[in-house]
Amino acid sequence: MNHPLSLYNTLTRTKEAFVPLQSPFVGLYVCGPTVYGDAHLGHARPYITFDVMRRYMQYLGYKVRYVRNITDVGHLQNDADFGEDKIQKLAKAAQLEPMEVVQQYTNSFHRDMGSLNVLPPDIEPRASGHIIEQIEMIQEILDNGLAYESNGSVYFDVPAYNKEHNYGKLSGRVVEDLLANTRDNLEGQQEKRSPLDFALWKKASPSHIMRWTSPWSEGFPGWHLECSAMSRKYLGTQFDIHGGGLDLMFPHHECEIAQSQASHSHSDSARFWVHNNLITINGKKMGKSLGNFITLGELFTGTHEVLQQAYSPMTIRFFILQAHYRSTLDFSNEGLQAARKGYLKVMNGLRILDQLQYPAGTDAVDAKDEEEIKKLTEELFAPLNDDLNTAKSIAALFNLLKKVNSMHTGGFKLDTISEETFEEMRTQYRALVLDVLGLKVEQTADAQSLLEVVLGFYKEAKETKDYAKVDAIRAQLKGQGIVVKDMKTGIDWAYEE
Ligand SMILES: [Zn+2]
Repeated sequence: MNHPLSLYNTLTRTKEAFVPLQSPFVGLYVCGPTVYGDAHLGHARPYITFDVMRRYMQYLGYKVRYVRNITDVGHLQNDADFGEDKIQKLAKAAQLEPMEVVQQYTNSFHRDMGSLNVLPPDIEPRASGHIIEQIEMIQEILDNGLAYESNGSVYFDVPAYNKEHNYGKLSGRVVEDLLANTRDNLEGQQEKRSPLDFALWKKASPSHIMRWTSPWSEGFPGWHLECSAMSRKYLGTQFDIHGGGLDLMFPHHECEIAQSQASHSHSDSARFWVHNNLITINGKKMGKSLGNFITLGELFTGTHEVLQQAYSPMTIRFFILQAHYRSTLDFSNEGLQAARKGYLKVMNGLRILDQLQYPAGTDAVDAKDEEEIKKLTEELFAPLNDDLNTAKSIAALFNLLKKVNSMHTGGFKLDTISEETFEEMRTQYRALVLDVLGLKVEQTADAQSLLEVVLGFYKEAKETKDYAKVDAIRAQLKGQGIVVKDMKTGIDWAYEE
């Protein structure tokens, strides 16, 4: 297989040609949500980014196995090794079982992702369903002398690991610098030998609900461990791509690499580490723990104080894809409104292309026009090969659209290009918009409002005694299962029973 795609690899800090370990198979792992709240705009970005990556790889002919987990245990407040579990804290406050919280927010996450047309992953493992795999991995790391038990908990020994490996290779951080910054910060962490060490297993306090038996204590796994254990289980010790938000690069992904190296895997787990940049609001990262987030539900309904209106799921998707995934993207009403216009423009182009008919029996092909359309068509997908640059692909769509609109109004004569070039243009436009960017038609008008419009014409026809039109409207609405009723009080309608 030809491999045209190059991706920026955080691990090497270069754009590299993407060649799968076992082409045509591609293993892709993306860190999923911690399900203790509704998904917000910041969550939409990684899942849309990697959805497009997966869609494009499938378009190129790869057989992708996409694994995206659900974190339902072990993620503590402030992403730390101490403190309360985020899910358990919420469950206690709401008097729910932790798994009720997990189910509720997993459902709402799926609903929101469905609205955004993010395809479900091939495997969606839960951390709590892989405790055995995590215990096995901890044992391997202990056996290799790179972790230690302390008061029923198990910690990863960063300084010992760093003697032979490079803790910091992904994030570019240096252990000495990290130590200098955290030296005074061992408070509440007396169990650790070094402040850089992180928990692989935590002994549960008496009040901790989510707990499992292990060789060391009744407790629960550390947050970083689940992704190492689950990616290995479903994609193998080495796989192609690990993705996630830039905020996960350190410590989460750095720890994942260390765990995989320190266990029997002895690998960085993924060949490519790909990170999407963050969505900011007034220049600051949008995050649940930062309290400055707008949930997707609020965006869809326009119910948040900073929103001037509601924004549809496809508007959000387009807004995110209009920026390259490695650039920051700042939330603004103006940006979303512009995205709405852009999205509608692209969908109108699709509608026009579907209607255009290539004229029969012509041979007036003009070499210059032919070349121009061919070039504009080729430019649609080319930017995706360059580190998945959806922003440039969308710009290329707009360039082609100018010609498509001109074809529609008759300024650009279709017979000046060959039928083959015309069909290729139509096919590629459709494939990019629908299959790869994952945009879909969104109903802009609801049936009820359209019915009111039709009934307005019905009323007018009656008043002017245009009975032919009255009958025609009646018959056509009947075809749609609607009966018009002439009441004393006015015109009403009902479903045909
Ligand atoms: Zn993860």
